Amino acid sequence: MEHYYPVIAGDDYIDGDARPFDSLDPATGDIVAVVDETTSAAVDAAVLDAQRAGIKWRSVRPLERGRVLTRIAEKIREQAEELARLETLDNGQPISQSRNDVEVAARYFEYYGGWADKVYGQTIPLGERYHSYTRHEPFGVVAMILPWNAPLQQAARGLAPALAMGNTAVVKPAEITSVTTVLLAKIAIEAGLPPGALNVVPGRGRHVGGPLVGHPAVSKIAFTGSFETGSALMRLAADRVLPIGLELGGKSPNIVFSDADLERVAASSWTAFTLKGGQVCSAGTRLLVHRSVHDEIVALLVDRAGRATVGPGLEDPDLGPLASAQQLETVTQYLDIGVAEGATLAYGGRRLDDGALGKGHFVEPTIFVDVKSHMTIAQEEIFGPVLSVIPFDTEEEAVQIANDTPFGLAAGIWTRDISRAHRVAAELESGQVFVNEYFAGGIETPFGGFKTSGFGREKGFEALLHYSETKTVTVRL
Ligand code: ADP
Repeated sequence: MEHYYPVIAGDDYIDGDARPFDSLDPATGDIVAVVDETTSAAVDAAVLDAQRAGIKWRSVRPLERGRVLTRIAEKIREQAEELARLETLDNGQPISQSRNDVEVAARYFEYYGGWADKVYGQTIPLGERYHSYTRHEPFGVVAMILPWNAPLQQAARGLAPALAMGNTAVVKPAEITSVTTVLLAKIAIEAGLPPGALNVVPGRGRHVGGPLVGHPAVSKIAFTGSFETGSALMRLAADRVLPIGLELGGKSPNIVFSDADLERVAASSWTAFTLKGGQVCSAGTRLLVHRSVHDEIVALLVDRAGRATVGPGLEDPDLGPLASAQQLETVTQYLDIGVAEGATLAYGGRRLDDGALGKGHFVEPTIFVDVKSHMTIAQEEIFGPVLSVIPFDTEEEAVQIANDTPFGLAAGIWTRDISRAHRVAAELESGQVFVNEYFAGGIETPFGGFKTSGFGREKGFEALLHYSETKTVTVRL
């Protein structure tokens, strides 16, 4: 069993007061690693260290910053299999999905490494007596608070653009999934990132996340997680007028019109709600189906669910365990609520605890039909492999139901009618819209929420603007 420490100034930071905590395999309950929780004194050291490193890092030529990021990508790929194995042991997801996450993490560093020397300012025409231009400058130390559903991928998603723009960062991974983020910091330093430019402070939210975002040397907060914590951090940021980016939850609609290719709809909609066991903020968890194709789509999905394999992530099933005992409890509560509210189970609905599965946090993939938009299972984010199917009759009604939650992170549309696709895309209150393939796009396409799903944008070029401040310089000639 490995022991992981906070990474501060490129060294294993061993603090006599640190309280070790166990990282558990959600498939078996076994301890897979021991992680030292960062003390308040160590959080302080991490932020001050990142502040010092920032003086150096922001003055490195953008071309060189880009090269370092590209080397980080190479080193992630060299250690891909080990990182994927640890990610699966930590959060339970099928190993092929961890391998994909590791590759996506590498791609973030590659992509933003390429951007580092291409973020131009503008010159602004004020006439011949003035010279006016803009510069994109780093904030300084970015505090990143991350969730447990895609630890390495999400760390890379924020870090790569932040570092490309000359910021430094202190990252607090979720308490149950710290291991790969600690390793990422070590990889980054080996790749030539100045020690201190990326520090990792594992630990619990209040104990470690609190002192981190409250530290006076932090200049920006980037948070991905629940609405409740995001809103609490926003209040904290307000006291200091700190810029904050929030990527919160979703309850994303996936709308199927009658002219869609139903086989493709079923295959993609299955992935939309079962990827990472449904523990994805942009998961397509509300399937809105035109009444004329409703029964056919449900039959295809029930058939797919019946063939699904469920088991430990290392065996690469369709569904691994949920990431924690707490998440299992949350999901099973929602399953009970769905039944109590009058929805019908077309498939699943139970915890799986026969034999070896009993030691882990497994649930059946679950498909509810007869769901009404006002029901709790159609309104709240469940974060499990649970689909709510809602029929509609008209395009107008589909849009109305799609927009009928407080969230607005992602949405899917299935149709062969090109006019309808663009018309509906424009009507949806959603930061991303996928047409004829759920999760279409990738690290290049801006991502973030409308409404309570948050604000600020990750991914794509927009993230670079999100991790920098525009300064306008105007000279009287
Ligand atoms: P979830 O319910 O999915 O675990 P959270 O929003 O609680 O989502 O957690 C997301 C991240 O926020 C985790 O890294 C967690 O430790 C952190 N966190 C939770 N509470 C706080 C807090 N009060 N201050 C700072 N970070 C927190």
